[in-house]
Amino acid sequence: MNKGLRTFVTGFPRIGKNRELKKVLESFWDGKLGFDSVTETADNLKKTNWETQKRAGMGIFSCGDFSYYDQMLDMAVMLGAVPERFQGISDPAERYFAMARGSAESSAMEMTKWFNTNYHYIVPELKKGCRYKPDFGSLFKEYRQAEKLGYRTKLNVIGPVTFLMLSKRVDSEGSMLELLPEIIPAYREFVNAAGFLGKEIYVQFDEPWFVKDCGKEELKILKKVYGELCGVSKNLKIIVMTYFDSAVNAAEALKDVNIWGVGLDFVYGPENVKAAKFLKGKKLIAGVVDGRNIWKNNYEKTLNILGEISKTVYKEDIIIAPSCSLLHVPYSLKNEKIIDSEIKGWFSFAGEKLAEIKDIADIFTEGKEKHAEKIEQNRAVFARRESSAKVNDPDVKKIIKCGYSKKRSESFKDRKKKQEKVFCLPLLPVTTIGSFPQTEVLRRLRRGYKTGAVKKEDYDKGIYEYIDNCIAFQEKTGFDVLVHGEPERNDMVEYFGERMKGFIFTENGWVQSYGTRCVKPPVIYGDVKRAGDMTGKIILYAQKKTKKNMKGMLTGPVTILNWSFVRDDIQKKDVCVQIALAVRDEIRDLQFEGIKIIQVDEAAFREGYPLKKSKAFIYEIWAVECFRVAVSGARPETQIHTHMCYSDFRDIMPAIKAMDADVITIETSKSGNKLLETFKKQGYENEIGPGVYDVHSPRVPSVEEFENKIKLLLNVFPAERLWINPDCGLKTRKWEETEKSLQNMVEAVANVRKSL
Ligand code: GLN
Ligand code: ZN
Repeated sequence: MNKGLRTFVTGFPRIGKNRELKKVLESFWDGKLGFDSVTETADNLKKTNWETQKRAGMGIFSCGDFSYYDQMLDMAVMLGAVPERFQGISDPAERYFAMARGSAESSAMEMTKWFNTNYHYIVPELKKGCRYKPDFGSLFKEYRQAEKLGYRTKLNVIGPVTFLMLSKRVDSEGSMLELLPEIIPAYREFVNAAGFLGKEIYVQFDEPWFVKDCGKEELKILKKVYGELCGVSKNLKIIVMTYFDSAVNAAEALKDVNIWGVGLDFVYGPENVKAAKFLKGKKLIAGVVDGRNIWKNNYEKTLNILGEISKTVYKEDIIIAPSCSLLHVPYSLKNEKIIDSEIKGWFSFAGEKLAEIKDIADIFTEGKEKHAEKIEQNRAVFARRESSAKVNDPDVKKIIKCGYSKKRSESFKDRKKKQEKVFCLPLLPVTTIGSFPQTEVLRRLRRGYKTGAVKKEDYDKGIYEYIDNCIAFQEKTGFDVLVHGEPERNDMVEYFGERMKGFIFTENGWVQSYGTRCVKPPVIYGDVKRAGDMTGKIILYAQKKTKKNMKGMLTGPVTILNWSFVRDDIQKKDVCVQIALAVRDEIRDLQFEGIKIIQVDEAAFREGYPLKKSKAFIYEIWAVECFRVAVSGARPETQIHTHMCYSDFRDIMPAIKAMDADVITIETSKSGNKLLETFKKQGYENEIGPGVYDVHSPRVPSVEEFENKIKLLLNVFPAERLWINPDCGLKTRKWEETEKSLQNMVEAVANVRKSL
């Protein structure tokens, strides 16, 4: 029997099961509480997390997985990489939050997606010639805190290569790897100091960078860096942790490096089985419990994988772990009191995943016979789920079986001719992306209606009044294609999820998106179909109020999929097709009722891309196809718009082209013409609305500024194919600045039109 370490937790959620950290931080930022209240809450949260993990029987868990804002920011601070503009702030807490959120004097550091998750990290700013002065005091203090309470923890830090590759250079355009010598001394210092914490100290270096397509150079550096760090202190057990995909090459590179263990993800990187042969003499932290989704683990399948791995790795060297930090799943099912109990029975949140890790480790080490009952119970859950009427909808199966069209009936060129006749739009038509500023009154109205405190008539009255105002404003200002403003929507995915079968909403299934911001993704548990009209009533109301064209406003299938927890019993692409068919039916109905322009937002299209280029192709094929299925029923005369909010399209241009929307609106206000040039170079022939108003800033651009921007666009793109619009929805903006900005935007268009 394996007496050593058998279970391991890569990281645990930190926001608090009732989002305590969010609440205390936001009060602190508002000046309502002192920082000591924040640290007190934080200390309690850490303690509770450690206690939870210990009670669940976990062999080792972390310090350093906690953060007041973000773990990359913490790492930058510990390494001493504080950008100059913040160095003048002497209070450490004030400085830290200024880096994260900006201050009156300095803009915040950039934030970006953490690999292909919905978590966003702060991008460290590095430059050459900086002698970084590290200070790991806060992390060591946390270690001591845990130790004092009787918990044995490992130190979690971001590994040097990943840290570097996810940072940005502010001194030149040179390669990131060039800066390695700047930060390595700081890491050496860390390893050295950590060695003094005790006789046997575990350090987890997160190196998820290596699940991407890494070149030889990076692998060589991996080997060299860890070879070096290994030699610094004998007391340390170093673990190089990877997750989110396979890292066979990294395992090979580390083959002869004397680290203690390597962490591999077997859920999202099944190819990792091939890495096992490089692990001789090392521990394998086997990520077999899904850290990114909320379904129960299938013990039989997991034990099969472990069986496969143990053909090459000694059983005693295999440690059971989640596939990544549990940061990406909600806390505990104990916080779910009202959701359907049958469906809840299929779920496993962070707390329940700990129990699974323990079960799997027990079964794996002690044998199946001894735990026959547990295995049987687990098997029964899956059998019930598989045959449940809640999961299987014969209607949906029938529709899929009958087949469906995957493209529109005519080419863009032919559609354009027909659409020109229908619409008679001026050159440079002006529109917006959908939502208008959402006021507190509006949010209260929606909330009240949901809880029953607001009557239906009053709710309707409020919503329709808002729509009336939006329309009046757009007509007065001179927009060409109107929107209703989306007052009825709290969230572009939740709204549609609530109107389709196969979706369920948790009460407390919050996961951190960035800082104190959390999202509660819908859960797709079964076959998806429309439960009835989703948007028709409202859009038709709005259309009747104006002679201009009102855009139907839908969220696309890929975005709905990518922002949900998706069932794992069928393939993702099959779930996406079901959603696409529901959207298709909605488009059919809107069209039937006379709506002539329909926007299908694909804000999260990019999020679904796999981390490895070799896998991207497969995603692209089905994701594009699903979009095309959704819009396939649109007549040639019906103009389909889509919207995407990011500014780097270089690598996904073929997919964008293949989606074949009549008009695409995109975020360009920051990247300007570079992006448009990409579209031009790639031969994009459809129409395009590059956002000219940055909705992420309260600033009101002047007429002149808009005019200049539009003229620049015209240098690259012909007026016949250009639309003018903001770069995203306006819901987070205030009315005041929005009105002024949009008026200026329209005035600028009028001026430019005169010169054409
Ligand atoms: N139509 C949506 C809105 O305007 C699009 C939001 C988005 O792109 N994230 O709010
Ligand atoms: Zn957007």
